[in-house]
Amino acid sequence: VRRATPSRFPTALAALQTVYGYDAFRGDQAAVVDQVIAGGDAVVLMPTGGGKSVCYQVPALVREGTGLVVSPLIALMHDQVDALVANGVRAAYLNSTQSSSERSAVERAYLGGELDLLYVAPERLGGEQTLRLLEQGSLSVIAIDEAHCVSQWGHDFRPDYLALGGLADRFPGVPRMALTATATRETHREITERLRLPDAKHFVASFDRPNIRYRIEPKVEPRKQLLQFIRSQPEGSAGIVYALSRKSVEQTAAYLAQQGVDAIPYHAGLDVGVRAAHQSRFLRDDGVVVVATIAFGMGIDKPDVRFVAHIDLPKSVEGYYQETGRAGRDGEPSVAWMAYGLGDVVQQRRMIQQGDGGRAIQQRQGQHLDAMLALCETVACRRQNLLAYFGQESGPCGNCDTCLEPPETWDGLIASQKLLSTIVRLQRERGQSFGAGHLIDILRGASTDRVRKLGHDRLSTYGLGQDLSEQDWRSVIRQLLARGLLVSQGEYGTLGISPASAGVLRGETPVPLRKDVIGRPARSAQRKA
Ligand code: ADP
Ligand code: ZN
Repeated sequence: VRRATPSRFPTALAALQTVYGYDAFRGDQAAVVDQVIAGGDAVVLMPTGGGKSVCYQVPALVREGTGLVVSPLIALMHDQVDALVANGVRAAYLNSTQSSSERSAVERAYLGGELDLLYVAPERLGGEQTLRLLEQGSLSVIAIDEAHCVSQWGHDFRPDYLALGGLADRFPGVPRMALTATATRETHREITERLRLPDAKHFVASFDRPNIRYRIEPKVEPRKQLLQFIRSQPEGSAGIVYALSRKSVEQTAAYLAQQGVDAIPYHAGLDVGVRAAHQSRFLRDDGVVVVATIAFGMGIDKPDVRFVAHIDLPKSVEGYYQETGRAGRDGEPSVAWMAYGLGDVVQQRRMIQQGDGGRAIQQRQGQHLDAMLALCETVACRRQNLLAYFGQESGPCGNCDTCLEPPETWDGLIASQKLLSTIVRLQRERGQSFGAGHLIDILRGASTDRVRKLGHDRLSTYGLGQDLSEQDWRSVIRQLLARGLLVSQGEYGTLGISPASAGVLRGETPVPLRKDVIGRPARSAQRKA
């Protein structure tokens, strides 16, 4: 005989108040829950911290049967199940970290109708074994969390997600829902199609996080800039600093600690015990700054993170949004700060070119990077740009660096022409291409060994760019790269022209450039007189 876990609560509100102790539903939660309890499918796009868990947990508690939750993050699964059990919910998970006896205990509980919620990793649903087990019991709802992982072109694709569309045939009559915190219009469409939710109701929450102030500044001396930023924050602010490499994590944490900041490193190369200790210090103590690789923060529920800082450029706007979204989940004022430079652009282009994903994937990664660069170099509101990326229209926000201190622009046409024509000459006349450093040496008329040896002091543009400092030239190159008026190519990231460069060389494409400002006071809205 098939046993279905009985309904635990007569109404959604009773479940919410009894199990979680919340007074009321928030945002779209009530509407989502109603749709699913009534047996309908749902696609839920809600930013991190929006309260997605309640959307599928409550229907599971109200409907008869067990709620199946597909979740790709095993660590997160443990935490969620522990928290549920602590609240009196009968929840369990099936994943690869369990022993076979633990697994069979969970299976028995499911078949006996004793589970409200069952968490499963997506790879388990690729095989017959788990599917047959699930068929022998009774499901109340199927929730697919982190549904954007089904998007092949997204930043977080997981092949196991592709099979999840099959659950539609396998469990007819069981309402299904897909939930995610990251979805562009394109990803949203892919989720609906691939997870086979044509009749689902769609719930798209605002992606705006109004309490987060966005700040992006050019990278010159990243550690010093970071320190200055941290010191500009209220005493005792907890924060996360993201860096790309383990080495950079270690060095940055050591530097900050040496400067008196309560900073600790976190990355996958650290001993498990050390990692756990650092994580719990961050959660428990006030004012700890964790310097981490991007893996840190997934599923960490610390509401009062006051800032998130990036000292390396994230690979996509989705990633940036997700990482910065870990700040200010309590709704209090918070800052997302980033330093980014020419080196980031060159490095990431190179990583994309050397990646082995094939042409289509490289192209998509290039588009992700371009969108990220556009956000960095925009002279308009950062939030407007960010929300537009998620398909949401908005006005200038008044709470980002460009709104608070509108950037000065300058006419970069002549400078750009000097640079581009130097590149063209070297390419055409000598078949050579070079990186930023050497090109700047030529433009600034530097007499280096390399310049002399290659005879570049005889180029007609030699010394033509002495009116700009080296830093100014780096800024020009960075912005031209971001706009596709310059391309970074090959293993060494040498600079080349693009089809769009022609308009600049002919003087037809205006090139307004953002004047770089470094180390602006991060909290007060100071304007230049
Ligand atoms: P998400 O999965 O969308 O990132 P969570 O489900 O983890 O968000 O919820 C984010 C935070 O909001 C949690 O701390 C949760 O306890 C809280 N929360 C969710 N729903 C409510 C509600 N209706 N009332 C009050 N707090 C809520
Ligand atoms: Zn703004």
